[in-house]
Amino acid sequence: MNEEDIIKLFKHKFTSLPDGVFGIGDDAAIIPDGQGQKYVISQDHMAEDVHFRLAYFDPENLAHKSLHTNLSDIAAMGATPLYVLLGLALPRTLDMTWAERFSEAFSKSCLQHKIFLIGGDTTRSNHGLFISVTIIGRTPEKNLKFRHGARPGDIICVAGSLGETYVGLYTLEKNIPGFQDLKDKSLRPLALEAEGQWLGNETCVTAMMDVSDGLYTDLTRMMKCSKSGACLDLEALKPSPMLLDASKILNLDVMQCMLAGGEDYALLLTISESEINEVSTKFEQRFGYPLQKIGTVTDGLNVKLLQNGVESPFEYDSYSHFDDA
Ligand code: ADP
Ligand code: MG
Repeated sequence: MNEEDIIKLFKHKFTSLPDGVFGIGDDAAIIPDGQGQKYVISQDHMAEDVHFRLAYFDPENLAHKSLHTNLSDIAAMGATPLYVLLGLALPRTLDMTWAERFSEAFSKSCLQHKIFLIGGDTTRSNHGLFISVTIIGRTPEKNLKFRHGARPGDIICVAGSLGETYVGLYTLEKNIPGFQDLKDKSLRPLALEAEGQWLGNETCVTAMMDVSDGLYTDLTRMMKCSKSGACLDLEALKPSPMLLDASKILNLDVMQCMLAGGEDYALLLTISESEINEVSTKFEQRFGYPLQKIGTVTDGLNVKLLQNGVESPFEYDSYSHFDDA
């Protein structure tokens, strides 16, 4: 049993939806706002000892992360976040001081992003802490980006870093001292909000999603939705110096970290080949770092990994919260 099999159980029962509504299958659901734009709605859960441990997550970082994992899905649709709902299931081990610190940090983050907390639900939990965040955003329909728009010949790009969060999490889980910058990537991920909205406004971006379950898994999902395949150039995956150094010290396979490490919250997108140079130059001027061109969409059905143009037998372990389900 994996996550996709479970989602399918629900998806198959709701194949016909009202006009203008887009349901299960992308980073967020879409409904018309009645005034020519679209509401974009996304929900994410975080479960103690699955997504985080209280041993290394203080309430401030947890508040930040629970908001940003969801902001990332809204950004991946090309939308602007507006409202948030917060669900909490609190174990008795957490006291009022914890709740005060969490609420202070969560509210501060919301205000920084100009989003309003408008509701939620609070309950007791007998088995760990659960946090559920639902964000409602909005965008003009023309700016919406889906997973299903990639076409053969498009260039596959990534905005943001890959692999660093995974290594940060590895050092936290193994209680390895040092590596604070990488730990911070895992504790306080930053959704690429401005980038998502900017890319939403670019018509040459044919598909977009955020990378939450690892590049290989998420690219495979995008290509499945787009009924296409992909060639991914392994030599185009450039680790950051920080990732490279840490992976050497920790004896981790850097490609494995970049391809399969989860929770990157980078943006994965496809761009029409004819406009790739122009849009990547504009992107770099606007954000001060480059869009990484990592491959090409093909008319095949699989995602192939190429090393110097030759298909690589690279074996990877994909990242899944359902590993032992
Ligand atoms: P993401 O990683 O971008 O948050 P998910 O992989 O969690 O997305 O979900 C993929 C799609 O399946 C989304 O459209 C999401 O809304 C939908 N989905 C996930 N779980 C459920 C569920 N229990 N019921 C209905 N839809 C679901
Ligand atoms: Mg997503």
